[in-house]
Amino acid sequence: MKILIAEDDFISRKMLEKIFSGHGYEIISASDGDEAWRILEEPEHPHLLILDWMMPGLTGVQIVQRLRKRPNGHSYYTIILTALDTPTDISFALDGGADEFVPKPYHADVLRSRANVGRRIVSLHESLSEKMRLLEEANITISRQAATDELTNLYNRRFFNENIMKSVSAAKRYQFPLSLIMADIDKFKVVNDTHGHSAGDQVLKVFANILRNTARTEDISARWGGEEFIILLTHTSCEGAAVMAERVRRLMESECFRITSIAVTVSLGVVERQNDEDAEALIKRADKALYCAKDEGRNRVVLG
Ligand code: GH3
Ligand code: MG
Ligand code: MG
Ligand code: MG
Repeated sequence: MKILIAEDDFISRKMLEKIFSGHGYEIISASDGDEAWRILEEPEHPHLLILDWMMPGLTGVQIVQRLRKRPNGHSYYTIILTALDTPTDISFALDGGADEFVPKPYHADVLRSRANVGRRIVSLHESLSEKMRLLEEANITISRQAATDELTNLYNRRFFNENIMKSVSAAKRYQFPLSLIMADIDKFKVVNDTHGHSAGDQVLKVFANILRNTARTEDISARWGGEEFIILLTHTSCEGAAVMAERVRRLMESECFRITSIAVTVSLGVVERQNDEDAEALIKRADKALYCAKDEGRNRVVLG
C-alpha cells in the first residue's frame, strides 16, 4: 500500500522512510506541506498519510482539514507527528480530522504498528467502496432491465404505463398536444407458421429498429405485448403523429422485405388526446383506430 511521508527535516524524513521500507509499503515522500498537497492532488495518490505538523507551506493539520472536505474525505487515514503534545494540541489535531496523534520522539515499532492499523482501515474503505460501486452498477442494470423488453430492447409495457400517466397529467396542466400510435403487425401468425418463430422474432426486432430510428428522443416507443407496439408522442398533434405512422408503415413494408425476404406489413391507429381524456381512454381509442385499420384491409394508418 502507498504511504505518504511528509516531513520537512531531512534526517527525520530518512528515518521515517527506513522505518517503513521492507514492510509492504510503497513510500512517497514530501519535504514540505505544499509538496505533500501536490502529491495528494495526483490521481493515484496515497490514502495512508504520516504528516509532520510543523512544516513550511501547509501544516500537517491543515492538510488533514482540507482532505476531510473532499467528497471521499473519510477514506484517508492520517497520523500526525509532532513535538507539540499538550492535551490542547492533541485535541486540536484530532478534532481537525486526524485519526492518530503520535508525539515525537516516537518508538519506530509502535509508529509502524499504528500505520498498520491505518493500512487495515484504508483497505477496508477500498473494498467497501468497490462493493458500493458494483452495487450501484447492478442497480442501474436492474432498473434498465425492469423497464426494457428483452427481445426488442424497446421500453416495456410497465415503463410505458408509468410514463403515459405523467405525460397525460403534464399535457392537461400545460395544455400541449399529446398523440398516441398503436401498431400491430399484420398476419404475424402466418410469419411464424410459415417461416418459424425465430424469423418472427427477427421481424419484431426489425420493426423495433424502425420505431427507434423514426421516433424523436422525447417520444416513448414500447412493446405493448406480442406483436403490438405503442408510441407516445408529446407536443405532437394528430397530423404530426399520422405523418410518423405513415413513415413507419412504409419503412416496414420495404425494410422487412429487404432484410428477411418476407413481405410483412403493419397497421396503425393514431389518436390525439381530447379535452379531459385520461391515459386509459386514450389507449382504448388508439386500439379502436387500429382495429379499423385491420378492418379496412390492413397495411394502413387510420386516424381515430
Ligand atoms: P392480425 O393481422 O389480425 O394482427 O393477425 P395476426 O396473425 O398478426 O394476429 P394474431 O393475434 O392472430 O397473432 C399474433 C401472433 O404473434 C401469435 C403469436 O404467437 C405471435 N407472437 C407473439 N409474441 C411473439 C414473439 O415474441 N415472437 C414471435 N415470433 N411471435 C410472437
Ligand atoms: Mg517539521
Ligand atoms: Mg395483435
Ligand atoms: Mg397482428
